[in-house]
Amino acid sequence: MATPIGNLGDLSPRALEALRGADAVLCEDTRLTGALLARHGVSAPLLPLHDHNEDDQTPRVLARLRGGQRLSLVSDAGTPLVSDPGYRLVRAAIAAGLAVGAVPGPNAAVMALTLSGLPPQPFLFLGFLPPRGGPRAAALAGVRAAERAGLSATLVFYEAPHRLAEALSALAEAFGGERPAAVARELTKRFEEVRRGGLAELAAHYGTEAARGEVVVVVGPAPEEATGEAELDARLREAMAAGLSVRDAAAAVAEATGLPRRQVYARALEAGRARGGGG
Ligand code: SAM
Repeated sequence: MATPIGNLGDLSPRALEALRGADAVLCEDTRLTGALLARHGVSAPLLPLHDHNEDDQTPRVLARLRGGQRLSLVSDAGTPLVSDPGYRLVRAAIAAGLAVGAVPGPNAAVMALTLSGLPPQPFLFLGFLPPRGGPRAAALAGVRAAERAGLSATLVFYEAPHRLAEALSALAEAFGGERPAAVARELTKRFEEVRRGGLAELAAHYGTEAARGEVVVVVGPAPEEATGEAELDARLREAMAAGLSVRDAAAAVAEATGLPRRQVYARALEAGRARGGGG
């Protein structure tokens, strides 16, 4: 069940009822969840469930469920499973035919999306980017290749505040500094802030003013690529001028741009017909 991402008033009555009725509560940090329960006068036993013990705990948890116990799963904040533990347990419970329910509630990604001023659907939630530069650039190149192949979605990332500036620079590098974006900070808390602007502008801002607290980055969808087609044609012309056949030129350009080979080949044929040539 979901718990607050900052504002304790966001624990829903139904979540509280489920906590009160639970034989035990599975949680990441027993101290943190213990404090939440104590605040509401709930005294259910706590069982730790985190990334490192989830596989070990799963059979024990399934045995309790089979024995008729009601267990609640919470994470430190927000909706469990979403960049938090619980997926492997839920998957195992479903596979075992056990009843699984959810009490919906706060989630930083969806809240940031709703405040970003960027198109809410389709959106692609990517969780945390790899923390180191090389793997992060590779992950972003993969997303950019998907965009070149037709993906048009608002992108949502979680990020640690001390990495925000470099992550925004990497995003600007991958998607262009003009791409509209938003940084949502400290949602539901006293210093909640949403800063909207181009990726380069946001990178410059957080390069000089370090972000504090918790952060979600939302990046707008790739613009309609009129330029994409022009760029594609230019690359195809160049490859064919270098002596490649239409098929080989399409293969080379597909490789370079990450676009599907079939799409590039179709475009090459189309451009050839428009010029009065053939396939
Ligand atoms: N399961 C949680 C959810 O439903 O949002 C997310 C857990 S993830 C381990 C923690 C990350 O979520 C933070 O690093 C930050 O990116 C984002 N986050 C959580 N609370 C937030 C808040 N109040 N404001 C902004 N971002 C938040």
